[in-house]
Amino acid sequence: SMNLPIPSGPMARRASRRVLVQHGERKVWIGGDAPVVVQSMTNTDTADVIGTAIQIKDLARAGSEMVRLTVDKPEAAAAVPAIREQLDRMEVDVPLVGDFHYNGHILLRDFPECARALSKYRINPGNVGQGAKRDAQFAQMIEVAIEHDKPVRIGVNWGSLDQSLLARIMDENAARANPYSAQAVMYEALITSAIENAVRAEEIGMARDKIILSCKVSGVQDLIAVYRELARRCDYPLHLGLTEAGMGSKGIVASTAALSVLLQEGIGDTIRVSLTPEPGGDRTKEVVVSQEILQTMGLRKFTPMVIACPGCGRTTSTVFQELADNIQTFLRDSMPEWKQSYPGVEAMNVAVMGCIVNGPGESKHANIGISLPGTGESPAAPVFVDGQKVATLRGERIVDEFQNIVLEYVKKNYGK
Ligand code: SF4
Repeated sequence: SMNLPIPSGPMARRASRRVLVQHGERKVWIGGDAPVVVQSMTNTDTADVIGTAIQIKDLARAGSEMVRLTVDKPEAAAAVPAIREQLDRMEVDVPLVGDFHYNGHILLRDFPECARALSKYRINPGNVGQGAKRDAQFAQMIEVAIEHDKPVRIGVNWGSLDQSLLARIMDENAARANPYSAQAVMYEALITSAIENAVRAEEIGMARDKIILSCKVSGVQDLIAVYRELARRCDYPLHLGLTEAGMGSKGIVASTAALSVLLQEGIGDTIRVSLTPEPGGDRTKEVVVSQEILQTMGLRKFTPMVIACPGCGRTTSTVFQELADNIQTFLRDSMPEWKQSYPGVEAMNVAVMGCIVNGPGESKHANIGISLPGTGESPAAPVFVDGQKVATLRGERIVDEFQNIVLEYVKKNYGK
């Protein structure tokens, strides 16, 4: 008898409380059974109202469901309400998250309009001050959050770990009969910092369902180890992200590797992929990568999927590469409008194949597929719609004609 493994998908989602991040009518839930949320961060000077508002609009349009911006100085805090206004005027309702370090307690106190305009605050417990002042300044930020009814993320980063807490944990470890490794101590310090500060925030009066945690590190294996343990020890929703992931393919691969392992284990309620932009590079890339991680893992659907063969010596046609690239871009660019007019279109998939070896077979499995002619094949490209051959394209206009077939299909099958 057959004994085939049954695809099981990701493990059950870790149980976590649901946190609401809201701007006006726009509600984004993080945790519980809410879908994993995509977020991103600007790299403009926050004091530049127009430049920042435009970048936030682009990130939101690309699919970022929350956008974080640094609030690092009085000029930035003063700009936040104006940025929010600009966005509201452009009908961009994405919730904004303020990233605070060192002077957050002062900025949130001195700029109540900024505190109001933001939908969530990120507090780095390693960067809220030293010694006795630390606790008071942390409390001050939490009190502002309570006053304005805003959720917070207590976001620990190992580049800015609370040094007194690290020293305490190292001392505790040194006193053990069998001390843990330096690496284990570092993990413990990260996790303890996140959880202790969350507990402190609750003691100050913050509701439990207003707190999200993160512990970002830059190594893939470190991130996996830290989040597995953090997930085990609490039920706050978790923000996942590999910090300083790097540039180009290295950054993408490292983030994908780390996040995918955790997501597969049901860990992670919101993700951010932090990529160092290439010179002149597009900031929205990090949103696209986040969406692709979630979609290729089967956790969410954002945009119709393009299945393309890698090409090989059997296809010399540049039409093939051009078409695959064109269709991918066409679908992605159309999504902001299509989401309104063609609900469910993101479930569609399109195959663009380079020759007869796998082309017709793969095309038949897709909603729409095209199999381009490989070397030595007759110069004709059969098109399949829902498994049936509907057309054979030839000549210069293959790219345009195929795009039209896709558009017709979308209108016919997903139109309201
Ligand atoms: Fe090569 Fe054809 Fe396979 Fe594409 S479908 S990789 S062109 S053999």
